[in-house]
Amino acid sequence: MRPTLLAIAALVLLACPAAARPVQDPPVQPQRSIALGKPFSHGRLLHGVQLADFGEDHFTWDPVYDVSPNRPDRRWGTDRLVSLLLRVFHAYRTEHDSVQRVGVMDLSRPHGGPFGRKYGGLGHASHQNGLDADVLYPRKDGLELRAFKPSQVDRALAQDLVDRFVAAGAQKIFVGPHLDLHGPRNVVVPLIYHDDHMHVRIANVRR
Ligand SMILES: [Zn+2]
Repeated sequence: MRPTLLAIAALVLLACPAAARPVQDPPVQPQRSIALGKPFSHGRLLHGVQLADFGEDHFTWDPVYDVSPNRPDRRWGTDRLVSLLLRVFHAYRTEHDSVQRVGVMDLSRPHGGPFGRKYGGLGHASHQNGLDADVLYPRKDGLELRAFKPSQVDRALAQDLVDRFVAAGAQKIFVGPHLDLHGPRNVVVPLIYHDDHMHVRIANVRR
């Protein structure tokens, strides 16, 4: 081989070092969700997880049209939020024989962001970064529907759900002022418009 050809071959090898060794795909790993901003301000959701429309222990409910299930683009949260919900629901249903599944309304939009009136109903000031979930109170009649007024709520079961969310480390739980639900003062907070669902917020834990 003449020197010029040798030089060209060396240059090609230098320019394409990958050609000298087998190419391997990186292992595929599910990416953990990231909640950016605040639930009520500049919130966004990266790598969110969608809550299924129905599951072994839950059903979903569209708060605007009052039908089940809820629409697909209203059921996104961080992986931590979705797994906490499913864990709490499963333990609750294991403990209470033959109790109805737990209803879930809105979480966040697929990539988070504003979720106000333009999306229907009263809209949400928060629910912006995958850390919030609206959970229906269990009904006295055992039906898998929204409890539209306080008299339809099974308060013992509702309190049990609240207790379980507190034990699971929820940061805030807004409950209806007319339901007499209680818990640690800074965590379980009565708030207007929450007599037909509780709002559960988890902390933003970075891993
Ligand atoms: Zn809410």
